Amino acid sequence: MKNWIALPLALLIGCSLSSSSAPARKSVLPALPRIDVHTHVFNPTPTFHALLNRLNLRVLNICVLDRHSPAYSNLEEQQAAARAVFRASKGRAPWCSSFDPSDWEIPGFSRNVIDQLNKTFDDGAIAVKIYKVIGMELKSETGQYLMPDDPVFIPIFKAIEVRNRTLYAHLAEPWSAWRPLDPASPHYGYYKNNPDWHMYLHPERPAKETILAARDHILERHPKLRVVGAHLGSMEDNVDEIAQRLDLYPNFAVDTAARVPDLMLQPTERVRAFFIKYQDRVLYGTDLSLMPSQKPEEAVKEWEVIYARDWKFFATNETVEYEGRKIQGLALPEPVLRKFYRENAIRWLPGIESAKN
Ligand SMILES: [Zn+2]
Repeated sequence: MKNWIALPLALLIGCSLSSSSAPARKSVLPALPRIDVHTHVFNPTPTFHALLNRLNLRVLNICVLDRHSPAYSNLEEQQAAARAVFRASKGRAPWCSSFDPSDWEIPGFSRNVIDQLNKTFDDGAIAVKIYKVIGMELKSETGQYLMPDDPVFIPIFKAIEVRNRTLYAHLAEPWSAWRPLDPASPHYGYYKNNPDWHMYLHPERPAKETILAARDHILERHPKLRVVGAHLGSMEDNVDEIAQRLDLYPNFAVDTAARVPDLMLQPTERVRAFFIKYQDRVLYGTDLSLMPSQKPEEAVKEWEVIYARDWKFFATNETVEYEGRKIQGLALPEPVLRKFYRENAIRWLPGIESAKN
């Protein structure tokens, strides 16, 4: 299927003639090449590599340091596992490195981080993740919260740009983090189980608007740095808010990781218009994981369920069930689907199809 791009998508996915105006596409996940730009895979198991082959899939494998979550509390181990997964996947799972920002007040911090990141680039990393601890958790000796536009990061972002890597920014959180627990929110379970990140319980911490403004300041200050805002750039509940940032900052794109339900809960026509207007700026990502503690067969089953659900929502006009609600699929046009599921990843993440280790 090397020349799939030259084939009409309709042929590949079994589009049938229909009397209705919306395209009738089968909800079966087609075997066209796709890229999932947001995964966490630290178990180089043959079951996972078989999945990549079966689904004609590539993934970006993201390392992140989160001391509140045992699975993510050791960055070196993750990065070693990500390299192993990359090698075993025969290049189908390039990786995204990260760094520990907690020593930012120690002299030489920026230089040390740049040296570490350069090593990860030499080891095949094609992107660098920064995480919500910046802006939501880390505090200076004098009690100030470390914000993502702190000058200590300027040389680091510059170095990422010089090496033509992409900055992956998971900054701030969904609005649910700043509100009381609400069983109707797609993020209810996360904040119920992760009170450390439930900002409603920590009113002394920075406001979401303050964190996003600092993120925007990075975009403005580094216009040549490619930045992908993970999780719809934490503007999950309103595509118009994302659109406003995309209009202002040409170096900014977003991924859909773990936020497809947030899109499902917004008016279908508005979300569809957003995906069409910003068809070069949204990347398909899931946040699916495969940890050494998980049973690979079970994890892989979950991956397939999510991929099928998402395809149904983005590509068809069928009804998708979400928490008892019936959601109309977006039936995005064929060229938009191609960009969303693959071509944007190639442009925003150079090396995603060619990284070598
Ligand atoms: Zn993630």
